[in-house]
Amino acid sequence: MNSSNYLTDAINIKSYNLSESDKILLMYSRDKGLLRGVAKGAKKTKSKFGGRMDMLVANKLMLYKGKNLDTICQAEAINTFNNLRNDMDKMIYAVYMAEIVTGFGTEDDPNSSEIYDIFYKALARISSAKTIVEILLCVMRFQLKMMRICGYELQLKNCVMCGCSIDKESKEVIFSEQKGGVQCNSCATGSGVRLPQKLRSFLDVLADTDFDACTIYDEKATPKIASYCFSMVKSYVALHSQKKLMSEKMLGELVQ
Ligand SMILES: [Zn+2]
Repeated sequence: MNSSNYLTDAINIKSYNLSESDKILLMYSRDKGLLRGVAKGAKKTKSKFGGRMDMLVANKLMLYKGKNLDTICQAEAINTFNNLRNDMDKMIYAVYMAEIVTGFGTEDDPNSSEIYDIFYKALARISSAKTIVEILLCVMRFQLKMMRICGYELQLKNCVMCGCSIDKESKEVIFSEQKGGVQCNSCATGSGVRLPQKLRSFLDVLADTDFDACTIYDEKATPKIASYCFSMVKSYVALHSQKKLMSEKMLGELVQ
């Protein structure tokens, strides 16, 4: 390997046509965050890359550093997330996560390894999901963790205003998207929505547990509760996103 080459793991997000046979790939890489690379010959039917340059495939790559764009020299598939590809619902949620990664990730991202890892784990979890609740819980975990990594952590344990422990509060607390978390009843100002303690605890547990965790909520959440909480988290993510994310309607149609 010469000094202009480097290795990284990356997940394909989008591709653009560069010429009749070449593609530019937008990827999220473990070492450099958002990364664009040229895949020479990727549009040919007999490309050396096969399906490895398809959307949402994770590859181990060797790239050649160019002046403007780097070139993908070798790609070895780590995970093609096959069960994602056969299911339109799963694919839509996966694309939604890719939008978040593109919107909040940066080039030479200081958080690249953490973001790559949660993106990879979430894609693998959705790929194996059997129910819509499993998908929603996974995407909620992803969003809550992503917000934490990017400096927009939702405060769910303590009042976002006075810092008091929210556990001691009555059955309901106030959730304020604008303030970034829950408020105790003395600090609540009127804006925000009433959130039952059970749902607060549900979100808090999701944010703190891994994608393969099996908490009481993973077992007991209903589609109605999961989709209610999902909308709340999604709306919080949209508030901090510079780009417009996939519409509520498009995702909402899947959750009936
Ligand atoms: Zn307070």
